[in-house]
Amino acid sequence: MPLYQSQKLRIQNSLSGKKEDFTPLNEGYVGMYVCGPTVYSNVHLGNCRTFMSFDMIFRYLKHLGYKVRYVRNITDAGHLVDDAEDGEDKIAKKARLEKLEPMEVVQRYTVDFHNILSQFNFLPPSIEPTATGHIIEQIEIIKDILDKGLAYEVNGSVYFDVAKFNETHEYGKLSGRKLEDMIANTRELAAQDEKNSPQDFALWKRAEPQHIMRWPSPWGDGFPGWHLECTAMSTKYLGETFDIHGGGMDLKFPHHECEIAQAEASYGQSPVRFWMHANMLTMNGKKMAKSTGNNILPGEIFTGDNDILSKAFSPSVVRFFMMQAHYTSILDLSNDALLASEKGYRKLMESIDVLGTLNTGNTTDFDIASWRQKCYDAMNDDFNTPILIANLFDAVKHINLIKEGKESISEIDKANLMTSMRTFSFEVLGLENESASKNESGKLSGVVELLIQLRKEARENKDFATSDKIRDELSALGIQLKDGKEGTTFSVS
Ligand SMILES: [Zn+2]
Repeated sequence: MPLYQSQKLRIQNSLSGKKEDFTPLNEGYVGMYVCGPTVYSNVHLGNCRTFMSFDMIFRYLKHLGYKVRYVRNITDAGHLVDDAEDGEDKIAKKARLEKLEPMEVVQRYTVDFHNILSQFNFLPPSIEPTATGHIIEQIEIIKDILDKGLAYEVNGSVYFDVAKFNETHEYGKLSGRKLEDMIANTRELAAQDEKNSPQDFALWKRAEPQHIMRWPSPWGDGFPGWHLECTAMSTKYLGETFDIHGGGMDLKFPHHECEIAQAEASYGQSPVRFWMHANMLTMNGKKMAKSTGNNILPGEIFTGDNDILSKAFSPSVVRFFMMQAHYTSILDLSNDALLASEKGYRKLMESIDVLGTLNTGNTTDFDIASWRQKCYDAMNDDFNTPILIANLFDAVKHINLIKEGKESISEIDKANLMTSMRTFSFEVLGLENESASKNESGKLSGVVELLIQLRKEARENKDFATSDKIRDELSALGIQLKDGKEGTTFSVS
């Protein structure tokens, strides 16, 4: 039985503003789309936090036994400077300043993005599509919206008609805004503006002669509006309605609001069942921004090459720091906070190492099953990683008492506790044990413990062919398993 049948997940849905029971559209399968980076500069630490939150969510959904198709795009065209409706493309601007081809800029920063994410131990998404790889799909959606009378063409650009859409749909429902208020609060259109109303947004923009990123279309040479790519790529790979759409809080309006409008206009139905938004990262109590200098790159934290922190911090420590806050809360990075996280992270890793060496007894003074369920309860409650970590530290306390001889643990419970500590720390939170990964014997005992666990499961399923195979093959490698009353131990000859 897959875990998701017994572990009932609840997710905070930004669309309803409530925590809702999560059941996917198709049993056993989850479709998840997350807005990826615009690859015109080194990845921001704040963006890393957003992507890390969804990496943890991806990991937990997989752990629950769902088959997850996780799509995270790369924006390599159409995103204009200042998220504006007019002006220069962020990538084209960088290419002009550095005298590079736009695709050289894209390649450079896509490589940087992947490099940083792999240092943070991210799992790769199932599909990582690019905006420029989906121009045809975007043109098809524009044609469809034009046919439905919800967009209009002016001088080779196509705009979404928000007022017309709002007659039959609700524009602003995700961000809780009303179109009347938006109209009342915006300035008059400038005389040169082609749009019917300031709320309208571009689906396709005419390329001015100097605009180097351009594609042919039924409306002349141009490029897609930024919001459109996510509608095209999410629905292409996940269907017209899918389970989860995530992104940073700052994307809720206008980006995600526009995505909803485009998909509803084209497909006639709401595209996303659960909208999830990760909150921002501040530094020393202030918004992180390159312009104010209150900014640090992930690579500068790992090397210590910066003027803000007292020392270097490893990717696992930074990951642990981020996992100590709920993904919907604002998190503040500071030297003190990272020092405290480093201590906490080390304590947790040491405890996992110590657990393997504990002497066992006949009884256990610690209810492992109910502790493990508390860990699941935390994660089932909208992925509450800080509560999960508090529970892991509860186990650390017991591990220390057992080590000091003040409490006891049986062999079986020790194995179960080891499996759970590892599962939550490494598989779900995505931490890496830096000391063990440097230590070959730590790795070996981890692998053997895993095989012991698999053998135990095989025996419970009466699959004796597999359980015997594990024992015999290990024995051939010089690793002897010994079955005792309280579980299995091993020795290396
Ligand atoms: Zn997007």
